[in-house]
Amino acid sequence: MVVSAHPLASKAGSRVLKLGGNAVDAAAATALTLGVVSPAFSGIGGGGFMLIFDSKSGKCSVMDYRETAPLRSKRTMFESMPSGDENSIGYRAVAAPSMLLGLSLALEKFGTKSFHEVSLDAARFARDGFLVNRFLSRAMNEDASIRKIKRSIESSKILLRNNDRPLTEGERISFPNLARLLERASEAKSVGEFYLSDFALTVSKLVSSNGGLISQDDFQKCDPKIREPVFERVGDYEVASLPPPSSGGICLIQLLKMMERDLGKDVHHNSAEAIDRIARCLEAVYQDRKTTIADPDFFPVDSKKLVADNYIEKLIEGDYNSRTSVPTQNSHTTHLSVIDGAGNIVSLTESLECYFGAGVFVPEFDLFLNDTMHDFDTDPSSINSVEPLKRPRSSMTPTIVFRDREPFLVLGSAGGPRIISSTFQVVLNVLDFGMGIEKAVQSPRVHYEGSSAGETTLYLEDGSASESAKLDLKGRGYDLKRKHDYFFGGVNAIQISGDKITGAEDPRRN
Ligand code: GLU
Repeated sequence: MVVSAHPLASKAGSRVLKLGGNAVDAAAATALTLGVVSPAFSGIGGGGFMLIFDSKSGKCSVMDYRETAPLRSKRTMFESMPSGDENSIGYRAVAAPSMLLGLSLALEKFGTKSFHEVSLDAARFARDGFLVNRFLSRAMNEDASIRKIKRSIESSKILLRNNDRPLTEGERISFPNLARLLERASEAKSVGEFYLSDFALTVSKLVSSNGGLISQDDFQKCDPKIREPVFERVGDYEVASLPPPSSGGICLIQLLKMMERDLGKDVHHNSAEAIDRIARCLEAVYQDRKTTIADPDFFPVDSKKLVADNYIEKLIEGDYNSRTSVPTQNSHTTHLSVIDGAGNIVSLTESLECYFGAGVFVPEFDLFLNDTMHDFDTDPSSINSVEPLKRPRSSMTPTIVFRDREPFLVLGSAGGPRIISSTFQVVLNVLDFGMGIEKAVQSPRVHYEGSSAGETTLYLEDGSASESAKLDLKGRGYDLKRKHDYFFGGVNAIQISGDKITGAEDPRRN
C-alpha cells in the first residue's frame, strides 16, 4: 500500500511495488512523482527524511537528506533583515538541495531498483503534463506563491495564464526540463556523479551569480546521513521516529508519554478537558525544544535524557526552558507512507520549506529551490542559529508505531510546526480514543504552541470543540482562533492489524 498526497504519486509507487520493488523503491518513485505533480510542496530542489523498517532484521534506520547551510553562510546573516523575508524568498534563502543524492543513496543501500526504474512515472508526468488539482490550485493562488512564481519569466510561462493569474484546477502543466533532468540523472554513470557535476554546476551558477551563497563546494560536502531513529516504549506500544536534527521524534514521544500520565480514562475526545490537556503538553514540548534540540553535529542533544521518565515529569510540571511566543507559520511539505508485501515500511516526509521554496526557479531543470534557511533561528545566539554546513531544526515526524513488536501504524504529516501536533493527535486518536485510522486522520484537530507576552492563541479546526467546550476553554484563559483545514497538516497513514492493512489519506490535502 502507498498513501500520499496525490493519486498519481501513489499510483507511481504502487506500480513499482507491482513490479517487485520494495518499500524503499516505491517510496522513491512516489517522492519523485510528488516533486512533479505537487511542485509547491517538495521536490528535487529540497530535502527530507526517510524512516525505513526492514522486516527481515526488524531494524529501523533513518536516511537524513535534510538541506545544509552553505559553506559561506554566517551566524549573523539574517540578524537584521530589512525586508523581513530574506530568509524565505530569494537566493540567500536557499540551502544546499539534497533530495536527489538522498534518494539515490537510499535506493543503493535499501532498495532493489535503479533510479531509472523508479523515476519513469515522474519523468512521464513532467514531460506529458498533469492536471492541476484543487489543493495545488489553492497553494498557487496564495499571494506569496504568486510573488514567487512571478520572480522568473520561465516559471511564469509554465504556471500562470497570460502571465497573470496561476492556472486553476483542471488545467494542464508540464515541466519538460524536469523530465530531461530525471532522464539525464538516470543515464549518468551514477546519480551521484550527475548531482556533483551538471546539477551542482547549474544550480550553484544561478544562485551565486544572484547574490546567494551556494557554491559547487556545497554539493561536494553534501552528506546524506544514515541515523538511528529515536525509539521508545510508550505504554503498550513502541514508537520509532526521527532523531535530531528533527525535533519531531523527540517531541512526539514526549507528548505521548505526557498524555499517558495526564489523560484520565474519563476524558472524552475534543472535550474542553482533553483539549486543555493536549494544549498544555504541546506548549511544554514546543517551548522546550528551542533550547534542547538542534543539529546534533553542532549541538550535543541528549535524546535519551529528553524522553526519560524524570524529564517527562519535569515537562508535566511546567519546568521547561523557554517562554517565548512563536509566530505561526503556514503549511507546507508532504508525507507519504508505504508498506510492501514483505512487510518492509517507509515513512517519508519531504519539503521545499514554504510553498515553492525560495521562489528561485532553475529554468534548465524546471524546478524550484527550497528556502530551508528559513528553518534556522535568526538570533545568532540560538542553538539553531545559521552555521556553515549545519542542518536547521525540523518538525518533520515520519513515524512507525509498533504493537507487540509488530508494525501497527505508519504515519507522518505536512504542515510546518503542526506536523508534530497533527501526527500526535492522530496517534492519540487511535491509541487512546480507540478510533480506526481513517476516523483518526479525519477528526478535527487543534494546535497550540504556548503562552507568552499575553499570547494564548489556541487554534481550532471546525468541529473540534463544541460551543460549550469553547466557552469552557475561554474560561481557562485561551484566546480561540478558527483556522482553515489545511493549516492542521496533512497526515497520510497506514494501519496494520493482522492481515488487514488500511490506508488513510488526509482529506485536508486532496
Ligand atoms: N521545513 C519545515 C520543517 O522541517 C517544514 C516546512 C513546513 O511544512 O512549513 O519543519
